[in-house]
Amino acid sequence: SFDFAARVERVEPSATLAISNKASELEAAGVDVVDLSVGEPDFPTPENVVAAGKEAMDAGHTGYTPSNGIPQLREAIAEKLRGDGIDAESDEVIVTPGGKQALYETFQTLIDGVDERGSSAGGTSSRAGDEVVLLDPAWVSYEAMAKLSGGSLNRVDTAPYDFQLEPALDDLAAAVSDDTELLVVNSPSNPTGAVYTEAAFEGVRDLAVEHDITVISDEIYQRITYGVDQPSLAAFDGMEDRTVTINGFSKAYSMTGWRLGYLHAPESLVSQAAKLHSHSVSCAVNFVQHAGVEALENTDEAVTEMREAFRERRDMLADLFADHDVDVPVGDGAFYMMLPVDDDDQSWCAGAIEDAHVATVPGSAFGSPGYARISYAASEERLREAVDRLATEGYL
Ligand code: PLP
Repeated sequence: SFDFAARVERVEPSATLAISNKASELEAAGVDVVDLSVGEPDFPTPENVVAAGKEAMDAGHTGYTPSNGIPQLREAIAEKLRGDGIDAESDEVIVTPGGKQALYETFQTLIDGVDERGSSAGGTSSRAGDEVVLLDPAWVSYEAMAKLSGGSLNRVDTAPYDFQLEPALDDLAAAVSDDTELLVVNSPSNPTGAVYTEAAFEGVRDLAVEHDITVISDEIYQRITYGVDQPSLAAFDGMEDRTVTINGFSKAYSMTGWRLGYLHAPESLVSQAAKLHSHSVSCAVNFVQHAGVEALENTDEAVTEMREAFRERRDMLADLFADHDVDVPVGDGAFYMMLPVDDDDQSWCAGAIEDAHVATVPGSAFGSPGYARISYAASEERLREAVDRLATEGYL
């Protein structure tokens, strides 16, 4: 038998995948499942982006690229970030196969486990690995990435504050200390859809500066906001030198399967992360990077159309739940809502898929039991069907 590494044994398989497997099983048995468990836009990739990918392939852009990305894309990303108020240069950017890889590389670059800390510090006073602070509910992979890197987790719950960060700042201040290595901020948020206020970001900045904390700002849903703008954390005074900005093409341009994302950070961090990058993935796919330039430069109309569609669905879904006297905290971004359910959210979700054939993800997977995450990246007709079924089967 295999002697597995502790790092993989520390981690659970993705809860989202368990649900979609169950949905696929039922579908294979001929059941019509309304799958609201997936975090994926239901629109095609904009045509001009697809065309740019094809053209790049035809033009022979099929070999390796420079590890950190093709110069045109790194420059286009730096230009985009400058538009967000960050003083970015192209050599501060690593282009990755998906935002997930950019996050993974960041955790691996910054977080030491117990053994590593012991040896690098010549003996350790603490038993735990470097401290990573998460704001719950938090996207499932942050916890896994922290554990894979050997870090120890410290979690701050925003559920009592309708998932907003600003009213949770006192709790965050109580949680962080000079021992905190990394704080992860994700706004607009998966799984809540919350968009954090400017005051919340200022609060994060003040704590990060006070305790010398590096902050990951996962801005992958940045372009999916409704009536509010999402500022970039790195643009706040004092944050440029301590922020790793993560973004990607999956959500904004409906390009999940293309696998394209990036990180931006000070050059000193980029040169360390670049080692992991070059020794693991080598580079993101060549012709995909060319399509990425087109996505950044020529998709404003498509992005606006998708955003409007998401907004209409969000409003419709909130109204439908209200008709059933269910009050759902509605966020101003991304395409998720947290539906308050029983304390035993795992049983609720298992029942909802068995009885109502509606797939959702238990909030406990994100650190917040008592909720089910609903993705409204589905047609209005399917969303109506889902609410009808949940109500008929007694789940609302
Ligand atoms: N960050 C968050 C909060 C996400 O929800 C996702 C995707 O679900 C990602 C990062 C990674 O997306 P990708 O690797 O497709 O760019």
